[in-house]
Amino acid sequence: MTLDFGTGKNSLTSIFGEYCFSDSVMKERLPKDIYKELKKVRQGDKKLSLEVANVVANTMKDWAIEKGATHFTHWFQPLTGLTAEKHDSFISPVGDGTVIMEFSGKELVQGEPDASSFPNGGLRETFEARGYTAWDVSSPAFLKADKTGLTLAIPTAFFSYTGEALDKKVPLLRSMEAVEKQALRLIKALGNTTSKKISVTVGPEQEYFLVEKKLFEARPDLKFAGRTVFGSMPVKGQEMEDHYFGAINERVTAFMAELNYELWKLGITAKTQHNEVAPNQFELAIIFDTANVSTDTNQLVMEMMKKLALRHDLVALLHEKPFAGVNGSGKHNNWSIATDDGINLLNPGSTPSDNSQFLIFTSAVIKAIDMYAPLLRASAANAGNDHRLGGNEAPPAIISMFLGDQLTEIFEGVAEGKKVESKDGQSLKLGANAIPDLPKDLTDRNRTSPFAFTGNKFEFRMVGSSQSLAGPNVVINTAVADILGEFADILEKATDLPKAIEKIVGETYKNHKRIIFNGNGYSPEWEIEAKKRGLANLRSTVEAVPEFIKDYTVKLFEKHGVFSKKELHSRYDIYLEEYAKRINIEAGLAVQMVSRNILPAVNEYLISLCEGVNSVKSVSGVASKAQVKLIEKISSEFEKMIELCEKLDAIHDGAEKISEVYEKAVYFRNQVIPAMENLREVVDGLEKLCDEDVWPFPSYAELLFNM
Ligand code: ADP
Ligand code: MG
Repeated sequence: MTLDFGTGKNSLTSIFGEYCFSDSVMKERLPKDIYKELKKVRQGDKKLSLEVANVVANTMKDWAIEKGATHFTHWFQPLTGLTAEKHDSFISPVGDGTVIMEFSGKELVQGEPDASSFPNGGLRETFEARGYTAWDVSSPAFLKADKTGLTLAIPTAFFSYTGEALDKKVPLLRSMEAVEKQALRLIKALGNTTSKKISVTVGPEQEYFLVEKKLFEARPDLKFAGRTVFGSMPVKGQEMEDHYFGAINERVTAFMAELNYELWKLGITAKTQHNEVAPNQFELAIIFDTANVSTDTNQLVMEMMKKLALRHDLVALLHEKPFAGVNGSGKHNNWSIATDDGINLLNPGSTPSDNSQFLIFTSAVIKAIDMYAPLLRASAANAGNDHRLGGNEAPPAIISMFLGDQLTEIFEGVAEGKKVESKDGQSLKLGANAIPDLPKDLTDRNRTSPFAFTGNKFEFRMVGSSQSLAGPNVVINTAVADILGEFADILEKATDLPKAIEKIVGETYKNHKRIIFNGNGYSPEWEIEAKKRGLANLRSTVEAVPEFIKDYTVKLFEKHGVFSKKELHSRYDIYLEEYAKRINIEAGLAVQMVSRNILPAVNEYLISLCEGVNSVKSVSGVASKAQVKLIEKISSEFEKMIELCEKLDAIHDGAEKISEVYEKAVYFRNQVIPAMENLREVVDGLEKLCDEDVWPFPSYAELLFNM
């Protein structure tokens, strides 16, 4: 496929958003009064009436049919972390053997997918296994293209008959409302009379690997678990780091060009692409939008990556750790809060009042992250991410925040009464003079911090590459909303505003500065230091997920109407089950790959080596010592492998006897995973001892360096 954008109809600006029922399309196609009404609905100021829904549905249908669509679907995000859809065609029989194309307001607004098979963690009893999808008016409808044609996709929220959230979107929307409510109170207390709306903004950066399709097909572990359960690093590894920002291979460039093209058509702002640290690892950044739109588009980005890679005989791997010993993949969640009149509340600004607002909001983030760090860690927990966080070769799973030297100094100054120079060279007084400019360039960046201030936003870097952005943002939003509300309580009553602000900023910093760490988060010293500071270090999913049902969590989420206790328990169950399921698959694959492929291959190799010894002996009269030594080494490792494989098999079988979800997850973590690791060590050692051609699976060298 050649992409020649040219000018006019083919220009990028014309193609952009061609498949998106965007605000501009609505403005152009809807009657003026309906457009205005809908806008109010989208801003949350009004409820959607059936009358408006009918007109919108009809317009949407006409637009979709003009582009070639025949079907529509309510597109939703069940707790699997993936997306789901059920397609219906627009056709409606009129009774004379012909059909017309119809799409009603009711069909647009609400659907009832047969969704009893989605995980719900006990939220829906089987006798009322009904779930409803409801149009999320704040996220635009779009056209999904596949081999069979175009489908009008309507982003929807998915909930149960009794109103419980069965998906990732409902809590996200609730948490955004919580931020809006508390932040509006706070800016009002600070004297802002112009802003009417507030939204959370999120800009995701998505990391992924690409591998050759035919090699992928030859690795059952990659195919069924998304990661290699065996494989040893070739000599030329990541230590060279020459891949990072290196020239991108042409085949990959072709894939990226097509990906960009398809994303642009959907109105998704694919912006930056580059090589990542590891070989065959890449990243795509999308320009920020409101948190729920970004969450939706990120799901589409992942889906498109997988689909389009196949067209180039490549497979996109979204697993957090496809290869041991090689950098894993994450998803950076850039987060901020913005007003409807264009104020970024985490922008330091240049005037004393902008500065106060910035310091108050930043203080709220500091306090929120310190107080809810274990919960935030839990929001990034899954079986894949355990290899990145707290794993053998990864940064620790400790949440800390990077502010940079200059901003830290300002906070220190306010908190400890230390002298900080203001912009005009005087001693800084909040509300009276301006803080010095904070550096925005890359020199002050810290890439090892899990939660870093990057000029006018925070970047949460723990999120796993395969995860939905919803989970982490629900936690950040609700935690921050909680503290914003607390600050608003104080400032609404304050008689001396500058003094009250200074007190909040100072006290917050003093009480929560243990979470600030500007040093190297990957160093072993940090783990020791963090422990001294009392920061949590939850090394695995099994340790992290119980945070979801602790009292402090239930209290936080219930207070802001984001999750009920019951909804939290359902997430706890589902996440632990999901964890156990994944390790279960991996363990099964490991046993199978050894017994069906590796064992026979090594066995044959041993036989051929022995035959070699005999042939040499028959000619020279003596056995070659080197050959015998190699045979002895391989056969002793071979024995060990068989023994460890049997052991893993038995331990793995033991999991079946456990039914309680937490106990089961713990068993996988403490028994099955170590048994898998022990087996892997021997298998990977054998791979190095055997002839390349003998090994039954493509090696890391082929998987990572073939393009
Ligand atoms: P880098 O981290 O490489 O310097 P950028 O600063 O351009 O890159 O941004 C990285 C991501 O952060 C992008 O997705 C960008 O859209 C997003 N971003 C920028 N500003 C905001 C904001 N106010 N809120 C949320 N995300 C933002
Ligand atoms: Mg980044």
